Amino acid sequence: MPFQRRKYTARRHWRLSVKLLIASSFATVIGFSAICASVMLDMRRGEEQLARQMLENLAAGIDADIGRNIELYDLSLRAVANNMLMPELRTVSKPLLHLILFDHAATAKHFGAIQVFNPKGQLTIDASSLDPRPENRADEDYFAVHRDNPGAGLFISKPMLHRGAYSIVLSRRISGPDNAFLGVVAGAIRFSYFHELFERLNLEQDDVITVLRRDRTIIMRKPFDLDVIGKNLADIARWNANNLKPGTSFSGQGPVDSTPRLYVRRDTSGPLFVVVGKPLDAVFRLWHKEVMRIGAIMGVLILFVFGTTLLLAREIGRRARAEAKLEELAITDALTGLRNRRKFDAEIDNEWRRAARQKTPVALLMIDADHFKAFNDSNGHQAGDQVLVGIAICISDSVRRAGDCAARYGGEEFAVLLPGCGPTDAFQMAETIRQKVMHWSDGSDAMTVSIGVASLIPGPSMPWSLLVEAADKALYAAKANGRNQSVLASMPKLSLVA
Ligand code: GH3
Ligand code: MG
Ligand code: MG
Repeated sequence: MPFQRRKYTARRHWRLSVKLLIASSFATVIGFSAICASVMLDMRRGEEQLARQMLENLAAGIDADIGRNIELYDLSLRAVANNMLMPELRTVSKPLLHLILFDHAATAKHFGAIQVFNPKGQLTIDASSLDPRPENRADEDYFAVHRDNPGAGLFISKPMLHRGAYSIVLSRRISGPDNAFLGVVAGAIRFSYFHELFERLNLEQDDVITVLRRDRTIIMRKPFDLDVIGKNLADIARWNANNLKPGTSFSGQGPVDSTPRLYVRRDTSGPLFVVVGKPLDAVFRLWHKEVMRIGAIMGVLILFVFGTTLLLAREIGRRARAEAKLEELAITDALTGLRNRRKFDAEIDNEWRRAARQKTPVALLMIDADHFKAFNDSNGHQAGDQVLVGIAICISDSVRRAGDCAARYGGEEFAVLLPGCGPTDAFQMAETIRQKVMHWSDGSDAMTVSIGVASLIPGPSMPWSLLVEAADKALYAAKANGRNQSVLASMPKLSLVA
């Protein structure tokens, strides 16, 4: 029914507007969230970059200190190894021998006394004593490695208890002119050196510094843990060495403990290298705070946008419903609920043009209550109104096709527009309505209607008033013929249908 179609159109219009509103709100929220997320990610990268730089500088400082000390100590070892070849040494006294062999560096703080072992591993000269107690170190790594390998160069031992203190032993081979093994010169750097070095640094809790030998043996670590020191990272199955190549950084769980950290490894050529790590929690602490703050603000803004959208959507819905209602009221007859005269005129104008384009017929029924004045006079105006409503129901019950338009034409007169309907079908429809009214009002005050029927195929420049006139004339004929009947208009030859 046209009435329902109108309602549907209004609702669809409303839905579209709300959808648009919701879509634009979502787009705004997603857009702002994306910008925020991108800024936050940039900030995160910035924080990480800053922390990496700081760790690189820290590692460089530690590395330089360790490198310098090892080089210094190595110079002393080399000097001893070279001087041991001087034949004159055999003839000098022990105090003089000490003066020749051991310089001041060898006696610096944290450096153990340099010792010289003969090819059998027996201690022959000791910087700390003119008469050292007999010792044999033939079984030690730092001795065996030089005995078995003339090209070992400077060897740094695993951490070990050396003369009552945890130390690493640095050793060099004493080689004769023909590369013969003449013994080993060895010295120790005590862990106190590392402790003091690390204490000088301004570190946070859970920051780690690890000093490793080239073969990835842990030489020293802060926090200090004897269980870890001396371990080789190659033995830790879950740790992949490719995670942290020289000169790179790595974010995640390290080989020793489960705290995720940002680790930085220095790229050095020395015998030891340094890895420093800072917990990711600490690296991103400020960033986390910012994320929470901006996230909270964004959350409130998003809630506000959605809340406003919801309110607006409800308001749009309410207005759309009110508009639809008003629109409906504007085209509806208040008493009968049928279309009013204004709507009828618009509909007939539309359908007439369409029919003219498509060369299809348009039918019109003009329905008028018989002797209605008399009914009103004897039963009262209100009873008359009820009858008009009854007739309207009979009409709308019969006219069900989409596109048909049943209207109150004025007073006790109704009009039914039937697009696409030829005269035979239109007359049939008129009879259906007439009989329906007759049966409905069966009784002492029986109400009947007379119906004028006309159907035309609109010709070029033919106005629709012709159709109304024809139906009107047929209605008068029905009245003249005694009422309670339908009369089909006789049409001029040109426009007559069927
Ligand atoms: P006919 O059979 O020739 O049509 O006679 P009739 O009495 O129906 O025609 P007439 O045009 O003389 O009278 C129409 C009456 O319809 C006059 C008016 O009182 C009544 N009428 C018009 N509109 C309404 C209305 O809205 N309510 C009521 N109750 N009566 C109305
Ligand atoms: Mg009448
Ligand atoms: Mg009338």
